[in-house]
Amino acid sequence: DHVGGLGALNKPAFPNAVVRVDKRDADYWLSKQEQEKAPADAKGFFQGAMDSVAAYASAGKFKPFEGSTQLVPGVRASSSYGHTPGHTTYVVESKGQKLVLMGDLLHSAEVQFEDPTVTIAFDTDNKAALAQRQAAFAEAAKQGYLFGAAHLPFPALGHIRAHGKGYEFYPVTYSIPR
Ligand SMILES: [Zn+2]
Repeated sequence: DHVGGLGALNKPAFPNAVVRVDKRDADYWLSKQEQEKAPADAKGFFQGAMDSVAAYASAGKFKPFEGSTQLVPGVRASSSYGHTPGHTTYVVESKGQKLVLMGDLLHSAEVQFEDPTVTIAFDTDNKAALAQRQAAFAEAAKQGYLFGAAHLPFPALGHIRAHGKGYEFYPVTYSIPR
């Protein structure tokens, strides 16, 4: 998911980068058979993934990993399967601080903080995605660490705290340097 910025076919936007992804997502999104089985309006997602990683793969810079694992010092992959077959949360830790990047565990800040049980049709497995969102929100509220998610409004980073049956989101403040 969200691979569009990697670059076009044969033209990597980050030629020095190594692209990492859970093997389950690689096996699914890069499979011609899965693409053929998918509904017409979903086929484009498969093509986008294939085109995005092609240049990295041919340069030996596409390296899938299996499940929760340490990727580099300070960055850990944590499986949160559901939205996609290999959906992964990335945990960044440095000097006692923690940032958790939740990817697509939520799609609408306006709806899913207040009611995390609302799912989206794009989830490969609604039930698993819902369980992962609830666990992630509960832990983020309890531990108070910073988290980010792809569909949050700018700056897409903040903290949450429990509120009623759901949560309230407190985005980090930001300013324009002068
Ligand atoms: Zn998304």
